[in-house]
Amino acid sequence: MGRRKKSTKKIVVKKNTTLDKVFKCPFCNHDKVVECTMNKKEKTARLLCRMCDVNYEMTINYLTEPIDVYTDWIDECEAVNAVDAAAEEHKDDEQFIDDQEIAEG
Ligand SMILES: [Zn+2]
Repeated sequence: MGRRKKSTKKIVVKKNTTLDKVFKCPFCNHDKVVECTMNKKEKTARLLCRMCDVNYEMTINYLTEPIDVYTDWIDECEAVNAVDAAAEEHKDDEQFIDDQEIAEG
């Protein structure tokens, strides 16, 4: 009586590998359209939105992850937007008051 050796090959396919290399675009607001390309040799990273073609390049080091590049880009975008928002603030205030008056009347 010999025991049959079952050759069970376990192939583990990880489907849920989170690929943090595609991000949401802050310009066109599409999800998973900004692709990050890391060039560790040249120490540069590039983000490119395949929807609106907006792109961003930055210098990286060996520790930089795609998410870091993206975060950096978002920070920069928000800094630019903050300046715009400050300039537009008064306009928005007036608009808000107008809306309220209409709502009350
Ligand atoms: Zn975009």
